[in-house]
Formats: sequence, C-alpha cells, structure tokens
Amino acid sequence: MEQQPPRFDHMSPEQFRAAGYAMIDRIAAYWESLQSRPDDTPIASRVKPGDIFASLPPAAPEHQEPWDAIARDIDALIMPGITHWQHPGFFGFFPANNSGPSVLGELLSAGLGVQGMLWATSPAATELEMRVLDWLGRAIGLPESFLFGERPFESPGGGVIQGTASEAALAAIVAARGRAQRAGAHADFVVYTSTQAHSSITKSAVVAGVARDMNDATHVRLIDVDEDLAMRPDALAREIAIDLAAGRVPLLIAATLGTTSTTAVDNLHDIAAVIDRTFASHPAAPRPWLHVDAAHAGAALVCPEFRWLIRGIERADSFCFNPHKWLLTNFDCDCFWTRDRAALINAMSITPEYLRNAASSAGTIDYRDWHVPLGRRFRSLKLWFVLRHYGLEGLRAYIREHVRAAETLEALARADARFDVVTKRTMNLVCIALRPRPGESPEDANARTKALHHALNAANRILVTHTILPGGRYVIRVAIGGSFTREAHVLAAWEAIRSLA
Ligand SMILES: *Cc1c(COP(=O)(O)O)cnc(C)c1O
Repeated sequence: MEQQPPRFDHMSPEQFRAAGYAMIDRIAAYWESLQSRPDDTPIASRVKPGDIFASLPPAAPEHQEPWDAIARDIDALIMPGITHWQHPGFFGFFPANNSGPSVLGELLSAGLGVQGMLWATSPAATELEMRVLDWLGRAIGLPESFLFGERPFESPGGGVIQGTASEAALAAIVAARGRAQRAGAHADFVVYTSTQAHSSITKSAVVAGVARDMNDATHVRLIDVDEDLAMRPDALAREIAIDLAAGRVPLLIAATLGTTSTTAVDNLHDIAAVIDRTFASHPAAPRPWLHVDAAHAGAALVCPEFRWLIRGIERADSFCFNPHKWLLTNFDCDCFWTRDRAALINAMSITPEYLRNAASSAGTIDYRDWHVPLGRRFRSLKLWFVLRHYGLEGLRAYIREHVRAAETLEALARADARFDVVTKRTMNLVCIALRPRPGESPEDANARTKALHHALNAANRILVTHTILPGGRYVIRVAIGGSFTREAHVLAAWEAIRSLA
C-alpha cells in the first residue's frame, strides 16, 4: 500500500472563528473576575523556578494537535505561572495597562500581518502612526516643532512608536552621536543623567559603544540630585565643565520626568539653561542632545494640571513616554518624538538594493530609519483605538481618578502616626515607610518596613514593590495606575497595610 505524504492543515476560517470567539470570551471572563471578585485571585504566581519549564514536554509535537487540547493547557500549564498585572490590587513597579480597544488593535495588527518598515510596504501603517503621534503629541502639550503638522514629509520634527523607552534612549544616543560626528567630534563622548535615572540610559550608552561598560563613570556621568531627588543643574554644569576642559565631548543629557524609584522630576528649564550658558562660552563644541525620559509620567500630561512637568520642553531634542504603562495601551508602545528627525534618520538610514523604491526616493517617511529594527508591527492601530474609544476627556478622567486615589492614600498614611510619607508625591506614586520609634536605629526601622512589605506580599491580596532611597531608607512604593484600579481598591490596600503594620 502506498503511504500518504505528511500534510498540514491550516486552522479553517470556521475553526478560527470558534476558537477566536472563545479566546475573547476567556479574556473577558478573566477581566471580569479580576474586577468583580479580586479576592478569588492571589496576585503573585507562587511557582518555583523551573516548575513551568518542567511541566512542558521537552520536544514539540510531531503530529497536529486539536485546538481544544491546546486551549485546555492554558489553564493547566500557563495560568499557574501568571502574576496578575491586571489585578486591581497590583500596585508594584509601574502599571502595565491594557484595555479592550487596545487588545483589539493588537489583534487586528496580527491579523493584517503587515510589515510597516517602509511607507511602500503598507502606507496606512506609516500614515496612521504619523497622524496618531501628532494627536497624542498635541494631547500632552508638546510644541508643534515635535510634530509632523500639515506638511508631514517636510517638517523637521515628528513622532514614531518604539518598542520601549530603553530603545528610545538608544535611538536618541545614536542620533546625538551622528549629529556630533557631522559637527566634527569623533571620540570621547559623555552622557549625563541623574543618579535616579532609569538604568536604560547607562545600558543604551554601553550598547551604543559610548561607554565601555556599565561602570564607566567617565562616559556616563550620574549627576547628584537635590532633596526632592531631581537632578541638580549646578552639579550638571560642573561635570560638563570638567569634561570640556579635559577635551571630552558632552553628547547627550537624559532628563527624567517621573523617576522609576519615586517619580521625581528633573527641571527641564534649568537643565536647558545650563546647556545654553555652558555652550555660549564654548561656541566650537557641538551642543549636546537633550533627551527627556517620561516613560511613566508622560501619561499624566494629558491633564493640563501636569503640564508644569514639561516646562522647557521646547528646548529638548527628543521626548518619550510609554502609553503601555499608564495610558490603557498594552505593551509594547513607547511614543518617541524628536525636533530633529534628520539627525535620527542620518544616523540610522541604510538602504540595501532590495529595499529601494520610488516612494522612498521621493521623500516619504520610512519608519525603519527611526529605530534599530527593520521589521515593525502596525502598533498605531491600538493607540488609535484607545484614543478614539476613550477620547481625551476619558483619558483625563482616568488619570485624575488615580491621582485622586493617591492623594487619598497619602492623606490616610499621613494621618497615621506609625507611618511616614517619605518622598514628595508628584502624581500617582505614594512612597511610605514605618516611622522610626523614639530611640530606634534607622536599620531597625528599615527592618520593620521590610517585614511589613514582605507580609503584604505574602498575604497576596495586593502587590507592592520597594525602593531604597539615597541615604538608605527602605520604602514601600504604592503605584496606583492599574487599568481596573479604582479608589475602593486603594482604600482596601490601605486597610491591608494599616492592619498588618
Ligand atoms: C519604566 C521606565 C523605563 C523603561 O521602560 P521600558 O519601556 O521598559 O524600556 C525607562 N525610564 C523610566 C523613567 C521608567 O519608569
């Protein structure tokens, strides 16, 4: 008897419909249960390292499996290893928002399956992104110089979606280096950022080859901070002066709006003034690039009452924030704007023959020139859906509810003599610690705060993370920004904190 050759079957459109509807039902039921019965779901996964790996077979199946068997394994093998970031009691790190319209945008992007690397490979993928970045840029108060505006192929500025704020920092450093090289500077570049900046700034400097390694303090200067943990402009001026005198080239200053540890805010206006003053007396030196990392805090800028954060932004060269943190858009989505897109494109553009096409030659936007990867997903769909579903008014209401809940928590903690609110609350993060008892050493007070932190996470009804401040104080960070987190959840969190203290 002749043997049948092996065959493959796509999921048929009918099977896809059935499995797809069931997957949407699964996600909807998950979100529903997190909101209506949060106490049914302990937040942090309790599996041990290696548990999930060991539960999975060592090799892929040789034969096709029925979809039902695959779907069953989501509950059996995956969910035990999930930490529930969308749980309304998740107050750790910074939030990782999502929402219905966002997930639908992600699904449509996957379904269309286009590569948006060039304008010509799917014009809508490029032009929707350009338009949506202009929308969002205006919504957060960026000056027109960062936008495409109504002559989008000619404007000097514009925005792009990067995967993460880390990739945005790398793009900024590479653009800055290209600009400095064209101005005649070729080596010994220095990046400046505060001691409180995100580690991605140092990492980007290393990846770009500006710094030798993560400890290269000559090429990444971590500038001192003031009592509010903001970069000290006088300390920045001093470091730049030392480097200029030594013949090094100040390349880029990364200011942070809303540091990861405590949401401290660097003063852009004062930092830009330092650059102006210093380089007025060094006219031959290229001006450093000013990059602004607002990864988390940028979302708050949809509310005019937070615009003080970006005072001085018109003098920055680039700005980024992550709608995937606190603006209802699922990972990954970092929005990056620059006033000098030519610097970015000159540094990143490389065109092998197989990518040449008439539209590129005529000067359209080819987003592959704006970041490291070539291929890119149609990520603007999810942002477009979010902006239209909620409207700017809805997004403001969303941000304000979290800020109000943070104010409430701050007031409750201040009213309880056992607690200190340790850092200035600028938006939705409240940093608390147990107050040292009379005569108690800082170490002992720290140990009690740490024990409270661990007890809270052991109870697993809320999840909080910690930081250690300059000076050594251990603090519990309560980051209020989950997609489903409402004031009631914050009050319940305070009850848990207060009763365990
Ligand atoms: C979260 C965060 C980052 C890193 O974000 P990714 O998008 O994950 O790279 C960078 N900077 C700040 C201030 C952050 O809070």
